[in-house]
Amino acid sequence: MINEKRVLDRFLSYIQIDSPTKHEREFAEFLMDELKRLGFEVYMDKAGDSVGSNSGNVIAKLKGNTEGETLLFCAHMDTVSPGRGINPVIKDGIVFSDGTTVLGGDDKAGIAAILEAVETVIENDIDHGDLELVFTINEEGGLYGAKNLEYDRLNAKTAFVLDSGGDPGFIVIQGPAQNQINAKFIGKEAHAGAEPENGISAIQMAAEAISKMKLLRIDEETTANIGFISGGEATNIVTKEVEIHGEARSLNEEKLQAQTDHMVKCCQDAAEKFGGKVEVQVEKSYGAFKVEEDAEIVVKAKEACKNLGLEPATTTTGGGSDTNIINVNGISTVNLAVGMRLPHTVDEHIYIKDLENSARLVLEIIKVYA
Ligand code: ZN
Ligand code: CA
Repeated sequence: MINEKRVLDRFLSYIQIDSPTKHEREFAEFLMDELKRLGFEVYMDKAGDSVGSNSGNVIAKLKGNTEGETLLFCAHMDTVSPGRGINPVIKDGIVFSDGTTVLGGDDKAGIAAILEAVETVIENDIDHGDLELVFTINEEGGLYGAKNLEYDRLNAKTAFVLDSGGDPGFIVIQGPAQNQINAKFIGKEAHAGAEPENGISAIQMAAEAISKMKLLRIDEETTANIGFISGGEATNIVTKEVEIHGEARSLNEEKLQAQTDHMVKCCQDAAEKFGGKVEVQVEKSYGAFKVEEDAEIVVKAKEACKNLGLEPATTTTGGGSDTNIINVNGISTVNLAVGMRLPHTVDEHIYIKDLENSARLVLEIIKVYA
């Protein structure tokens, strides 16, 4: 029932409108025009002001023609770099970039699926409850659009985010919490040749701390990483300052706390051992989410998949998405796979068939709830 040519054209036009993180305005206005044309009530919220984007989140609503439950569909408008001037190339039923940019299927595949589904609903006068759409800004920068979304404008208690890799039919029902852990080691400068005994090396402190840390795969539910280090000026100076930047994630909030405490303690012990100082900052990026396997949203999503002949499978992700944030705001939310492959690389691509199936899945979910 969805229009296969139109969903592809739609996707190709979306990815050719640049919308790098914090510069979503042009694409947001394009979507708002399209949504108005379809009969949605459209609003741009004020989230952009607090997160430094030139656009807010787009919120769109369509009154239902049945008493079915209100549904929210969400995808993010921003793309990672290199994401300007995307030039799609189609080969063997797959859309690629020209190899110099990402494709932007993350997450415009999700947006194309949602818009195609709602246009199909409207043109065929298909039964539907109230529909709410949210297209967020600044997801890639740290889920800031979703964190600053004007939730009081939404009525839905059930939401589908379309922003996961994997074949359509995968339903992400669990995601980790994440902490950012940054430590600044402060030692004492000294000439490395003339009087090294008067110095305290921040590099040695950082090395000591990191070497004592349990990192990478901690257990089934928990990971940790030191991602970059900065500091130092010259070989003949005992280094005064070094910063290390890391993260920890876990599906289990207690394990996340334990891993974070461990990393902080390694930093403090190292500073103490060398007689220096350390300033550690821990910032919670987002909380964990978990939707139960027998929750209505999962049961209905699976039913919609089966109706289409898609193999439903629930899964867990190691990454964060708007799903984490929307769940925390009291809306039961899962993340649906839309078939994006190798996102965040210039090799990103997507099968046209997956674009079509994602639109079909959104349409079928609307029908199942109507
Ligand atoms: Zn994404
Ligand atoms: Ca992404």
